[in-house]
Amino acid sequence: MSGAHSPISVYQLRLGATKVPFGQFYGGLEGWRGLSAFYRFATDKRHFIVVPIHAYLVEHPDDGLILVDTGINWRQAHEHGHYYRGMAHYLFDEDEYRLDRSEELPAVLARLGHRPEDITRVVLTHLHEDHVGGLAYLPGTEVVVSRDEWDNRDWRLFGFIPMVYEPSLQPARSVTLADFDSGPFENFPASHDLTADGVVKLLPTPGHTPGHSCVVVRLDDHGLLIAGDCLYTLRHLANGDVQAFGAGKRVEQHNASIRRLTELRARLPELIVLPAHDHTAYQSEHLGPGLAKGRLTAEERARIRRYEQSVFTADGRLRADRMPRYITCGSPDHVGGVSE
Ligand SMILES: [Zn+2]
Repeated sequence: MSGAHSPISVYQLRLGATKVPFGQFYGGLEGWRGLSAFYRFATDKRHFIVVPIHAYLVEHPDDGLILVDTGINWRQAHEHGHYYRGMAHYLFDEDEYRLDRSEELPAVLARLGHRPEDITRVVLTHLHEDHVGGLAYLPGTEVVVSRDEWDNRDWRLFGFIPMVYEPSLQPARSVTLADFDSGPFENFPASHDLTADGVVKLLPTPGHTPGHSCVVVRLDDHGLLIAGDCLYTLRHLANGDVQAFGAGKRVEQHNASIRRLTELRARLPELIVLPAHDHTAYQSEHLGPGLAKGRLTAEERARIRRYEQSVFTADGRLRADRMPRYITCGSPDHVGGVSE
């Protein structure tokens, strides 16, 4: 891919984990739709999975440190009931989030030699709690988010579950709204340049939330797609076989965004997908080790291609033996696993 020749590093940050119903991730084609999805979301307390929460740190030689998403903060995880006082968050479990001291954003940044105040800009793919909670460690840092996302803060999933908990956004005192007026990018009719050289771009991928966006980083010999929750995991690319839960027109919008990302991958075969919550070997064996050092080597990228071929057919469907299935582990809190 064409792009800058200056060294750009992209680190994956693991900022805790979250407990979700299996159907939230994988039930879209099996009845987790609309009111039924809401009912099951609120009542299915027997099929949980725990998935990691990832953010990404882009080190750009001219534009400094750009943090894409911020994970969760200590209070969300350990003082849940107090943090979400007075909220419709009774839907969510007290132990929804897992975070130990070594996974707090300042500790993770320190291991890379940075302090929170070194971050020049935060880019938010969307305003869900597990993406904005870490703003608490970054008061006053400039925040970039799509205008559609910001202006639809009142939007509620299923008309009921609020997207935004305003106190989590309080530290964002300087917000830049992206209008996607930097021109087309490949098959995307609109994009928003996040760096002056156009190497880091925001792309509109609505559906998961009204103004969800992805970030693409164009390096000299490959590209990275920070997918946020447009793709919970790599397998969600096969949206004819696996879909997250959802409701209403957002489902079709979300699927259209995934198809657009699929087409982008076809145009840019060296593009690597970085989901926010992948919990499979794709994460633990490939993305995690590779991006811990800020750069995927050619050999690591070749291994990722072979892994993708073991997951998807040539026409992008999920191989039959790769369909995610819930695995009961017999734990008292009903946290199970997912087949790979
Ligand atoms: Zn989300």
